[in-house]
Amino acid sequence: MAKKYEGPAIGIDLGTTYSCVAVWQEQNNRAEIIHNEQGNRTTPSFVAFSGDQRLIGDAAKNQAASNPANTVFDAKRLIGRKYSDSVIKNDLQLWPFKVIAGTEDNPVIVVHFKEEEKHFVAEEISSMILAKMKEIAEKFLESKVKDAVITVPAYFNDSQRKATKDAGVISGLNVIRIINEPTAAALAYGLQKRANCVENRNIFIFDLGGGTFDVSVLTIKNNAFDVKATAGDTHLGGEDFDHRMVNHFVKEFKRKHSKDISGNSRALRRLRTACERAKRTLSFDTEATIDIDAISEGIDFCSSITRAKFEQLNMDLFEKCMETVERCLTDAEMDKKTVDDVVLVGGSSRIPKVKQLLQDFFNGKDLCMSINPDEAVAYGAAVQAALLGEGIKSVPNLVLRDVTPLSLGISIKGDVMSVLIPRNSIIPVKKKQVYHTCDDDQPGVSVDVYEGERSVASENNLLGLFELKVPLAPRGLPIQVCFAIDADGILNVSAEEETSGNKKDITITKENGRLSTEEIERMIQEAENFKEEDLKFKKKVKAMNVLDDYLYNMRKVMKDGSVTSMLTSTDKMKLNAAMIKGKNLIDDKEQHETFVFVDFLKELEKIFESALNKINKGYSDEESDSD
Ligand code: AMP
Repeated sequence: MAKKYEGPAIGIDLGTTYSCVAVWQEQNNRAEIIHNEQGNRTTPSFVAFSGDQRLIGDAAKNQAASNPANTVFDAKRLIGRKYSDSVIKNDLQLWPFKVIAGTEDNPVIVVHFKEEEKHFVAEEISSMILAKMKEIAEKFLESKVKDAVITVPAYFNDSQRKATKDAGVISGLNVIRIINEPTAAALAYGLQKRANCVENRNIFIFDLGGGTFDVSVLTIKNNAFDVKATAGDTHLGGEDFDHRMVNHFVKEFKRKHSKDISGNSRALRRLRTACERAKRTLSFDTEATIDIDAISEGIDFCSSITRAKFEQLNMDLFEKCMETVERCLTDAEMDKKTVDDVVLVGGSSRIPKVKQLLQDFFNGKDLCMSINPDEAVAYGAAVQAALLGEGIKSVPNLVLRDVTPLSLGISIKGDVMSVLIPRNSIIPVKKKQVYHTCDDDQPGVSVDVYEGERSVASENNLLGLFELKVPLAPRGLPIQVCFAIDADGILNVSAEEETSGNKKDITITKENGRLSTEEIERMIQEAENFKEEDLKFKKKVKAMNVLDDYLYNMRKVMKDGSVTSMLTSTDKMKLNAAMIKGKNLIDDKEQHETFVFVDFLKELEKIFESALNKINKGYSDEESDSD
């Protein structure tokens, strides 16, 4: 197959809490999950602004408790949403960083960086994480990476998909495809466990991650992956289980110490980290402890939680997951008995109660836990990236057909939702429908595009709207509306009046919260600036470390009496003064540029070497002093 893209194309699972990157390795006939510089195969989706440094991934997460207001996470929960969205109302109170309403009701994240207030939209924060994943892949592949497949929850709507694509563009990536997370996981499962399956096999993917929940049912036959239906919740996952536990302990702390820590962001952040750890423990143990020193006003907090209590705190959320499972099968018109494999994906699918409820639902069926739930999505994304590039030799006939998660249509007379593309239609898809004007001499028609399942149009999600001018005519003038969804699941709408030839495409602009081309351009430039600043900072740290090492070695030499006794007293004074100056420079690092450290090191080397040379040449203290 001809190569469509230059260089290796990577697959990125851009998660709410963790992200993962993979690349297909044809020589090994499998995808490689790429570890970051810390050796971890997943990277926290965290960005922090600390002092004059921007941190991404593990480094950002590790300092979160000491710098909560400037450590941003959960960008995926904000992306493509409005500030006033009821779904994120609760989160706004829980996040230790500040989020305000920007223009067009867009959520804007506010942090303090370099003594300035900085504003970022979710696309920018996500782009920083994507840029980090790109960098991780480039280090591993020892080459530049341009093209990437990025995954999104199957239940992401049009604006969330487009916003994710914009984030990719800002990060400097060419997003060759957006694919659904459960579909990517199915690709991983299919290739690893059911390669070249000739029988019809029904696969159910249960994907419960850090912030989103998706289920999909697929049929695999002869390496054709057909998604039959998908359902989910873009705001349900591990973080919600953590929040419940945090609230439980906040109440307990109040009971025990008569102190409310719900407004103390540092205490909450530390408690949340401890709760997440305890939750993981409860997946293999029946009890977990929480132990935080001086959580508030010097009070230590020690407590424990049983698995039963954790389950009780989250039971309604677990049950909600099972309702979604049922809805997906109903949509696919599939009896649960006909499901061959139930595959678990996403870190939260490790929770024993979730597994038990799922197993009970499928009448005691064994669940497939043989693929790594944290890595399956990135693995599948890498497979898709390879398919779009050079192809995969071992499965040349691999075909993937995905579906759209939500019904799409327009509002017609009486606020009725007229659906053009029903949910679970195979994508890409194009549908045309003719509508008629309602009044005589109507000057124009308004095309209001919605997504959702409600029959009252305005109760669905408004994606955008436009006006089409039409010639004056008696009512009943035909208008053709066309909906097209591309392979990324992104919608384009056009409307045309034939007699006048008037035609209009929907331009999704700031009206519905999307970034304009100019804003994206500006953000690309800012991302470049950040990259340069990061590089500058790395250079400065390197120069500082070299100087620090040199000073350390100098100090060691100066402690050696056999050397110092041979130094002239002038040299001793010079060396001591230089060492003090060097230490002061490092202590005051924020005030100095890289060249200060580099130049001073050169100066120091000269002083030190000249002093040592004198010793080697055999000058004695007296000889030099009497000079
Ligand atoms: P993902 O988005 O798939 O990376 O999933 C991340 C979520 O899985 C986080 O909320 C983690 O706390 C959660 N998680 C990871 N391991 C476990 C575990 N052993 N038990 C419960 N939850 C887990």
